[in-house]
Amino acid sequence: MFGECHAHLIMDGENYRKAVAVHANGVQEEDLRTKLAGYAARGICFVRDGGDSHGISARALQLAGEYGITYRTPLFAIHKRGHYGGIVGFPFDTWKEYEQLVGRVRAEGGHFIKIMCSGILDFRRRGALTEPPVEREDIREMIHIAHEEGFSVMAHVNGAKAVLDAVEAGVDSVEHGNFMDEDALQALAESDAVWVPTYVTITNLIGSGRFEDTAIAGLVQEQGERIRRGFELGARIALGSDAGAFRVPHGEGLLDEYREIRRLMLEAGGKEKESFAQFHLTEEELDGRLAEAEEQIRRKF
Ligand SMILES: [Zn+2]
Repeated sequence: MFGECHAHLIMDGENYRKAVAVHANGVQEEDLRTKLAGYAARGICFVRDGGDSHGISARALQLAGEYGITYRTPLFAIHKRGHYGGIVGFPFDTWKEYEQLVGRVRAEGGHFIKIMCSGILDFRRRGALTEPPVEREDIREMIHIAHEEGFSVMAHVNGAKAVLDAVEAGVDSVEHGNFMDEDALQALAESDAVWVPTYVTITNLIGSGRFEDTAIAGLVQEQGERIRRGFELGARIALGSDAGAFRVPHGEGLLDEYREIRRLMLEAGGKEKESFAQFHLTEEELDGRLAEAEEQIRRKF
């Protein structure tokens, strides 16, 4: 099975507050063991975490080996104060503070730096993000400092401009990448960055009752077109489900992501009318492309 390139061991796929509350009085190892066993049972032996601010990921790192899992973690994500990111990490105001957080990742044994460059999809307002993105110069500096310190950079980033800014600054992986336009997709494809679209965070919302299904179906369609266009342009695309996010269970989430990407690239390929060019891969080509992108993530992170 492929590896899971984007998970959050702290979350449970149901309710963020409830998931965090489990660890309110210290890390509950049994909870992490259940999640790790879920990966192992499905033959998933590589998991890259997206971080948390409760030390959960750090403890998971200590346990993962017992399950035959290579586990890579930034420990926590880093965000500019006032922007999205408190849910998975710590804020900074000054570059000195940012450098201190990067230093803390090193001191505590983190493998890479995870930065937050934008908000998330606003599922109640079609086509909108929850907030304006981080400024281009700030994105550049965050990536630059992390690289100077010898770390690869995983960026949570949505929106055409912020993705373009992150890619042009040499980011190593683009997480989510919703609302990319053709320019951003082309820049991504021409770069060395790997794109982890976490498509299932959208597709699995259908039928949840939390949002309007027609609005979600629109997002599924649009992001699907972008993913297909990404493959067509030669972008490196890897499987990551954002496991732990709402309706994305650990282990099963990756299988969902693989199924959705396959559906997109094999079954629907060339049949549906798409605004982007018609394109599809054979099964072998698709698996090969996914494996290659995952290999790059394993190498760099
Ligand atoms: Zn995430």
